[in-house]
Amino acid sequence: MTEKQPLRVLIAGPRGFCAGVDRAIQIVESALDKFGAPVYVRHEIVHNRYVVEDLQKRGAIFVDELNEVPADAPVVFSAHGVAKSVPAEAERRELLYVDATCPLVSKVHREAERHYARGHHILLIGHAGHPEVIGSMGQLPEGAISLIETADDAAKFETDQPDKLSYITQTTLSVDDTADIIGVLMQRFPLMAHPRKEDICYATTNRQEAAKAIASECDYVLVIGAPNSSNSRRLVEVAHRSGSESALIQRAMDIDWDALKDVKTLGITAGASAPEILVEEVLTALRQKFDVDMSEVITRTEDISFKLPAMLTE
Ligand code: SF4
Repeated sequence: MTEKQPLRVLIAGPRGFCAGVDRAIQIVESALDKFGAPVYVRHEIVHNRYVVEDLQKRGAIFVDELNEVPADAPVVFSAHGVAKSVPAEAERRELLYVDATCPLVSKVHREAERHYARGHHILLIGHAGHPEVIGSMGQLPEGAISLIETADDAAKFETDQPDKLSYITQTTLSVDDTADIIGVLMQRFPLMAHPRKEDICYATTNRQEAAKAIASECDYVLVIGAPNSSNSRRLVEVAHRSGSESALIQRAMDIDWDALKDVKTLGITAGASAPEILVEEVLTALRQKFDVDMSEVITRTEDISFKLPAMLTE
């Protein structure tokens, strides 16, 4: 029998599920318990195929738009948040709906409303097309918010009222890239109002910090997460910038074994919507091929949790 090649594995902590994702999944599960199947869910409740398929097995039906939801069925809105027009439409149709928007996304929505009420134009730093950005822009009338995706956009944005400008951000951005964009904006518009507290959420910040810590010691970092998960993609970038090769994988079957041939130290982390069971699956696959020496690198501990909506707990 040939001996397995040794492999040092560093697992980032924190990794995986955040409080907002945990709450959103619990909302769908509680809705299934309370109302019975089927429960409709508008959009992927969180960006993870494994989670979505698991909920489908229990009776959740995922749809793109409200017009696919029958009049007598309950519907849950995803953790990323929705434009105001979505609950308004649900109310018009007298649908029973539960909003699983993460409270930290709702906080950004309330900030946008406050700035708007003061007569400010709002710059939203984020990625076009992401459901959270669509939801945040939909909190206010068209034209009230301009999207800034890059430092170049920040350099080009023009206004004739620089004293009536505010910014908000998507919650799952790169901490470093966002600091660059804000730097450009603040230099050009020093009177611009900013969030009282950072909009990039604690989970995004902590996972990037932990990924940086392991990446500086690794040849290669595997990030477990979905290709449409913003915070997972940012973890791949963070690992790259910290000097390690990095790849985004959804499951163990996606591992590129050739790429790991000469790797001595491998890092593992997971995006905020990736369940721990997928980290365990990857570790099991690694142990089949390598003599794994594993340790966890914990840069921070988290104890945040969010309450479920009262209609599910009463
Ligand atoms: S990543 Fe942050 S904002 Fe998004 S659901 Fe998790 S805690 Fe909420």
